[in-house]
Amino acid sequence: TTRKKVSEATSHIRVAVRIRPLNGAERSDKCTSIARSDKIKNTVELKAKPFGPFSRVFDTDTTQAEIYADLVSPQIKKVIAGFNCTVFAYGQTGTGKTFTMEGGRTDAKSSQDDPTTGIIPRAVEDIFEKLESSKCEEYSLRVSYVELYNEELLDLLASSDDEDRERLRIFDDPHKKGVIVSGVEEVPVRSRSDVFKLLKTGAEKRKTAATLMNMNSSRSHSLFMVNVVVRENTNTGEELVKQGKLNLVDLAGSENIGRSGAQGNRAKEAGSINQSLLTLGRVIRSLTTNAQHVPYRESKLTRLLQDSLGGSTITSLIATLSPSSSNFEESQSTLEYAMRAA
Ligand code: ADP
Ligand code: MG
Repeated sequence: TTRKKVSEATSHIRVAVRIRPLNGAERSDKCTSIARSDKIKNTVELKAKPFGPFSRVFDTDTTQAEIYADLVSPQIKKVIAGFNCTVFAYGQTGTGKTFTMEGGRTDAKSSQDDPTTGIIPRAVEDIFEKLESSKCEEYSLRVSYVELYNEELLDLLASSDDEDRERLRIFDDPHKKGVIVSGVEEVPVRSRSDVFKLLKTGAEKRKTAATLMNMNSSRSHSLFMVNVVVRENTNTGEELVKQGKLNLVDLAGSENIGRSGAQGNRAKEAGSINQSLLTLGRVIRSLTTNAQHVPYRESKLTRLLQDSLGGSTITSLIATLSPSSSNFEESQSTLEYAMRAA
């Protein structure tokens, strides 16, 4: 019986690696490609040294549609059924985290128009399609978009033009098992194109905040949260309300980990990025190994996602990788991080 309990408690965590193509600058600098994937073994070779195995490995020719179908689509049914799921993009700045989460362009009307459309718009599109074809009475989608910088939360969708940064607080909902961010804007989404607008608003707000605080946006995490509420009538005439959440997280650049020698604000930044990325790694590791204690409370990021990691959830971590010889050391540490999580 103990064994059964353990398997029930096991959350589903998938760790994937995505290698982006060499870019123009790398090619003109005569950098060579030192990373390749082995689809059979699900490993990545870096300078012929194998790392892995991972749940999946995606080479430079992988499309956004393939990434979505493989790593996110299975989570949508769960979210509609009332569970919480999460997708993380982890990796060095410039390796494709934002490309993977948001896409190449944000002006496209749908993924049919633009093959570079990323996970966020595809997920919302998919949720709408699944809900429209379901037989539920009523549904609603609300989106929150926050940035986490130096262990502080900033609301990227707040309507006020306040220069003051919105102070958001995280606390446990006493009535339901969940985490609540007090004061956060929850914007209703009615169409696919609404999402592109929200991403744009968020990106602008992120840029302004970064300038105000003299901060590089690669040093903050962004969390796009889609709340789905579905109302159904059961056969016995009872009303059933299901509430699920999909978290789509674009993490701070992993090159900020372990940067010593920084002073003042930079040291504080490096410290809090360390704390959140390292704690995230430890939380995922604890969940995959069924550890007794999961250190959610050791960073705001994991605290925020506490109700979405572990239990009956599905989590995907996509580690993004540059294939370039010039990024060897960062790529190696990304693969090591991903392996600890896998
Ligand atoms: P990050 O968010 O990790 O800093 P970006 O997503 O901004 O990195 O990607 C850096 C650049 O590389 C962008 O111009 C992006 O369009 C491009 N890029 C990233 N991944 C891919 C990919 N898989 N295919 C084509 N271009 C990519
Ligand atoms: Mg980015």
